[in-house]
Amino acid sequence: MSDTFDVIVIGAGPAGYVAAIRAAQLGLKTAVVDAFVGKDGKQALGGTCLNIGCIPSKALLDSSKQFHNLTHNFASHGITAENPKIDIPTFVGRKDKIVKQFTGGVSLLFKANKVTSFFGKGKLLKGNQVEITGNDGTKQTIAATNVILASGSVPIELPFAKFDGKHIVDNAGALDFTDVPKRLGVIGAGVIGLELGSVWKRLGSDVTIIEALPEFLAVADADVAKAAAREFAKQGLTIKLNAKLSKAEVKGDEVHLTYNDKDGDHNLVVDKLLVAVGRRAYTDGLLAADTGVKIDERGRIVVDEHCHTGVDGVWAIGDAVRGPMLAHKGSEEGVAVAELIAGKPGHVNLDLVPWVIYTEPEISWVGKTEKQLKDEGVPYKTGSFPFAANGRAVAMNEGVGLVKIIAHAETDRILGVHMVGPVVSELIHEAVVAMEFKGSSEDLARIVHAHPALSEVVHEAALAVDKRAIHKSN
Ligand code: FAD
Ligand code: NAD
Repeated sequence: MSDTFDVIVIGAGPAGYVAAIRAAQLGLKTAVVDAFVGKDGKQALGGTCLNIGCIPSKALLDSSKQFHNLTHNFASHGITAENPKIDIPTFVGRKDKIVKQFTGGVSLLFKANKVTSFFGKGKLLKGNQVEITGNDGTKQTIAATNVILASGSVPIELPFAKFDGKHIVDNAGALDFTDVPKRLGVIGAGVIGLELGSVWKRLGSDVTIIEALPEFLAVADADVAKAAAREFAKQGLTIKLNAKLSKAEVKGDEVHLTYNDKDGDHNLVVDKLLVAVGRRAYTDGLLAADTGVKIDERGRIVVDEHCHTGVDGVWAIGDAVRGPMLAHKGSEEGVAVAELIAGKPGHVNLDLVPWVIYTEPEISWVGKTEKQLKDEGVPYKTGSFPFAANGRAVAMNEGVGLVKIIAHAETDRILGVHMVGPVVSELIHEAVVAMEFKGSSEDLARIVHAHPALSEVVHEAALAVDKRAIHKSN
């Protein structure tokens, strides 16, 4: 055995690398083991999020939004450009530069905080030892008082539409197309399907999304999902609901799909197929048979409310455990576990993790939907306000969508806030803060909001809960 640490983290995604930095800040001797290989064949820290998830997808969403504005929206401002074009190698190359900046940033943060980084596949052995297998097959074993498992997640593969990296791709493939596919098929109208479908639609792809559920965006509040569906339809995104793929066959440079819905079987031919039907916790090769760490029926590492596995000194965080598969949720769990290990209090409120979908318009929410409250029998009242009546949104040419606030019918405590519209990825945090402080709709209604600002829509929605919005009839 070579080295002994206070903390070893397996996985350097947003859960693991944040846990490691916080542990090191607290004076703990910390090591991280990560196996991710970047596009240049070298170790790249930051996991799914920085390499093939949050950051690269937002880079492409931003570039494609600029192009879409130039080709569709600038003319109304009196701005025209002749024959606008997009160069895909530059478009993808810009994204790659941003990824490198951030993955390299994690490496620098490790150095600055004296976190030791190992490159290889980590396996937890009994007694809190970690066996590391390098790319060349060499093995070494290190040990620690505490091990944090942060191995993340991978895309779910459909048996009849297996990823080939060329025609049938996952998120990583859809971030790296070398041309705009003329016809793009997407399986799953979830977060990845909508975000990456939007990217390529804005650049000119004919995008068809096939979704198994009968309801669009069932995880979101129904009013928000309805408003978003209307905008996506206007943009020309074709979304087939209640539709099940049964076959995907690569023929030459095309993918031939068969799916069925209430009207029977349909055929669709596309140039690329993105399969985005969810992700599964990744624990392949992570645990020796005798560690005592348990896996649940969905393949996730079993933990308690403090991310403890029940095995002395072994913790697990991020996408590999229960709760939403979101970077910020994993990072907060990383901080909480590092603090618990250092003898401090640490906790994450999983009830108030905000969700954001970075489409155009953006979608965000926190807390309960109206349907959840109905099912739970909780009495509630709602107030909503449209961006179409907000001066700033209209001045920006982005007067679509709404903010909806749901409050308890008797106590007025805010139970859920749902948004679709411009920059609601940022606006949602006013709601998160209010809800963390157990605020009421009256609290939001009495706070002064600057004018003209998009956040006035939140203010008016809070007023609308009590039927006293100023700029609409209640
Ligand atoms: P990961 O980021 O998956 O990192 C796990 C790391 O552990 C990886 O580097 C992996 O190689 C390594 N690893 C696994 N097993 C081992 C082992 N045995 N030994 C060594 N290393 C190992 N979330 C958001 O909040 N906002 C977004 O905008 C967003 N956009 C996304 C867009 C896309 C296209 C995708 C796919 C995901 C997106 N997500 C987003 C989700 C987000 O990426 C994940 O929730 C987040 O990365 C999970 O963090 P993690 O640290 O738990 O795992
Ligand atoms: P998802 O769970 O968001 O959506 C998957 C969709 O596929 C669902 O609507 C589901 O009903 C549908 N589906 C499942 N099986 C199907 C089938 N056989 N045929 C047709 N449809 C099917 O999953 P995702 O889009 O793959 O994303 C995975 C996760 O990554 C997200 O849930 C989220 O946690 C995370 N993510 C977050 C962001 C963000 O925060 N902006 C962005 C991307 C990904």
